[in-house]
Amino acid sequence: MYVVPKGLQLTLAIIKPHVVKAPHALQGVNKAILDHGFTVVASKTISLSENQAASFYIEHKDRFFYQRLVNFMASGPVEVKILAKEDAIKEWRQLLGPTKVFRTIFSDPESLRGEYGLTDTRNAVHGSDSEESARKEIQFFFPEATNLF
Ligand code: GDP
Repeated sequence: MYVVPKGLQLTLAIIKPHVVKAPHALQGVNKAILDHGFTVVASKTISLSENQAASFYIEHKDRFFYQRLVNFMASGPVEVKILAKEDAIKEWRQLLGPTKVFRTIFSDPESLRGEYGLTDTRNAVHGSDSEESARKEIQFFFPEATNLF
């Protein structure tokens, strides 16, 4: 059973494979999470199968980058976390920076994607974009967290 400080919003974070493989980058992301006042409710390192990655990103199945995204997300371990904070969804997305790294390195160089993103696919970190997706994504990775919703 996971414990969430009262009144805080939850979001799902994923640290993507190229960051998990690079100790200084992984440490940098984890430090930023704490420095920005997020509470880590749960965290685990897992390896996604191609089927799991395909299912997680199913809404993008018709986009040109879908297959490469699925291959990348299944290419090595990812760290998945439930984060809690007031306004966690917006705050975490803000700390991530915009999706497209080739722009973000110029527009938001100090964001996590600006700092640790390598390409538009390998953009370092994921964050839920709404309360509904946070709930779905948390249930996807932490099916045991039945007390949270
Ligand atoms: P997010 O919510 O900011 O992660 O953005 P989306 O839900 O739109 O996209 C999901 C993931 O697909 C992103 O985090 C990227 O890894 C990847 N992606 C999105 N747009 C592009 C693109 O234009 N090119 C490539 N190569 N990957 C993309």
